[in-house]
Amino acid sequence: MANNNTDPETPLLGGIEAGGTKIVCAIASEPSEPLFEESFPTTTPEETTGKIIEFFEKAAQTHGPVASLGIGTFGPADIHPRSPGYGSILTTPKKGWSHYSIVQSIRDGLGTGIPIAFDTDVNAAAVGEAEYGAGRNHRFIAYVTVGTGIGGGFLQDGQILKGRMHPEIGHIPVPDYDAAYGKSTNVCPFHDSCLEGRAAGPSLAARWDIPGQDLPDDHEAWDLEAKYLAAGCISLTASWSPDTIIIGGGVSSKYGLIDRIRAAFADLSGDYWALPPLEIYLQNPALGQKAGIVGSLCLAQRMLQKPEN
Ligand code: ZN
Repeated sequence: MANNNTDPETPLLGGIEAGGTKIVCAIASEPSEPLFEESFPTTTPEETTGKIIEFFEKAAQTHGPVASLGIGTFGPADIHPRSPGYGSILTTPKKGWSHYSIVQSIRDGLGTGIPIAFDTDVNAAAVGEAEYGAGRNHRFIAYVTVGTGIGGGFLQDGQILKGRMHPEIGHIPVPDYDAAYGKSTNVCPFHDSCLEGRAAGPSLAARWDIPGQDLPDDHEAWDLEAKYLAAGCISLTASWSPDTIIIGGGVSSKYGLIDRIRAAFADLSGDYWALPPLEIYLQNPALGQKAGIVGSLCLAQRMLQKPEN
């Protein structure tokens, strides 16, 4: 078959965005311009990995084999290259996935020794935004995703900051702003009042009896949502002082929410910090829902440039 790779001298990259409900696979020479892309539901580990392998085998018939792979996965996940469990999902309520090694299964399935980068879907999205989106021209980038859960990633000069494990900003404690609205919703089973429990998608549905996507733009739900997210952004500002906080994920794409978050942030910050204009400091992703797969392809590219990282 013809080789449709745009430049035979440029290595072909493989990207996998492994979300809790959906997997996106892509190949590209240039991360922001996938040549071939497919998505399918996340089911059992074996079936899901089988479909991923099928995708890359099919892609290879037309475009040739990939030189490296980048995986951005749902968590919690072991993302430390020197850890014995590197490449695995950690303990998760998601049936069958606890301690399943995605990297090993894909390596075995493809029968290849190519370098494979493994990181969280949030870190991958942060890298995508840093290289091609709203994070360009910023050195210290916080990326927050607000959807079924809330997660975050931090980049310093392009490098992903890692501690003992990846950040879990969804579980930052937040004040109880529900009471002022005559509500008391917190859907996190572990904490009395955390950001994810108060502001992730399921909390909107639980609090107002209407799914977030169906709540009207002028519903008071959005002021409360904005206040919780602003409180989370205050914590990030106080603990790390980023150049910009990019707020992505399904909930964040609600029309006008980012303006409400900026207003709530201005109220809560008490003019304490000297910050860039809030239109720059708090922003939506430029790549939208593409940040994760573009970032996964960027991780694959980084493996070819610096395989030891
Ligand atoms: Zn929590």
